[in-house]
Amino acid sequence: MAELLRATRVEIDLSAIQYNLAQLKARLTPATQCLAVVKANGYGHGMVEVARAVLAAGADWLGVASIVEAVALRQHDIDAPILVHGAALPEDAEALVEFGLRATICDESALAALDRASAAAQVTVPVHVKLDTGMGRLGLWHEEAAATILPWTRYKHVVLEGLYTHLACADEDAEATREQLAAFACVVEKLEAAHLAIPLKHTANSAAAVAFPDSHWNLVRPGLMLYGLYPNETLRHRIPLRPALTWKSRITFLKQVPAGRAISYGRTHITKAATAIATIPVGYADGYSRHLSNRGVVLVRNTAAPVVGRVCMDHLMIDVGRVSGAAVGDEVVLLGAQDGVAITAEELATLAGTIPYEIVTAIAGRVPRLYHRPSVPMPAEPLHAKT
Ligand SMILES: *Cc1c(COP(=O)(O)O)cnc(C)c1O
Repeated sequence: MAELLRATRVEIDLSAIQYNLAQLKARLTPATQCLAVVKANGYGHGMVEVARAVLAAGADWLGVASIVEAVALRQHDIDAPILVHGAALPEDAEALVEFGLRATICDESALAALDRASAAAQVTVPVHVKLDTGMGRLGLWHEEAAATILPWTRYKHVVLEGLYTHLACADEDAEATREQLAAFACVVEKLEAAHLAIPLKHTANSAAAVAFPDSHWNLVRPGLMLYGLYPNETLRHRIPLRPALTWKSRITFLKQVPAGRAISYGRTHITKAATAIATIPVGYADGYSRHLSNRGVVLVRNTAAPVVGRVCMDHLMIDVGRVSGAAVGDEVVLLGAQDGVAITAEELATLAGTIPYEIVTAIAGRVPRLYHRPSVPMPAEPLHAKT
């Protein structure tokens, strides 16, 4: 029996991800390390495959949101340094030590627990301390950070490896970004004046890595751009990127529909004239947003066809009245290119009233991911000499 595979699938071009990383690396000083953010299943692209591709192409670090994601990487034999961006809880300490993960420390209770777990395991564990310089999310307020952090040197089984902060609007507000960077620099200055060594300092997400070179310090943390997507449109002119993901399906049913028929739940679309309506086996349970009801556009035979009626859980309908020759079995591109025409994640995001981040991370686990071989060779398997 042929391998069963859904008509709805995602194809990932890992060489595009490697190209995007190379574009960024070309803009960094040689001393600046690169932490590739692969959280949320590699922004929907597949965490393990993306991690292997970026490491093969010269990423130094991986960044994830949770310990569970980090452990999944370790269980796939990925031994690169991993920074967990979520705040560490005291009860996470043993797992952080066992799996050799870098914790994000936002308060003393997590640090004390990690110190105890490290002492018990007879190791010294490096940590990254997070500052809040204006994001209002995780981290110590920058004004109080130096006074809080300096006494932490009394914990002997943890060592400060990194100091970092996250920018709230690197893609939209240069002034606020410069204020955040200045606040960060001020804490660095105070800590270093007190002779605390900070081997890694990092503030840059994708937008800052491209638009604010002075945010690089000696480590950058790109996510979105690695996948070939732009946090905002002005950055499109500053760095060439290739989208890595194509989301495809097929027409599984097609019928002629007279004028005046209602399409889908709630009867929100009524055909104005006789047309052809095709049914596609993809819905909001696959991550195709219900906000794209009567708004989305797909490609069939290199022609744009509108989503008509509400997006269902497992299906959506498109009007193919103007797609000549449309037939059952035709490839449908939901996101990505089809022979030179494309629907970008940025465009879909605009139609759905969201951001490209949400479009790709929403693609559900039940959609199979197929990978194209990277152009940069993967590290060779160890050769077992046969005699
Ligand atoms: C997600 C995340 C990033 C990556 O942000 P992009 O905008 O996708 O580049 C960087 N740093 C932290 C702390 C994050 O949570």
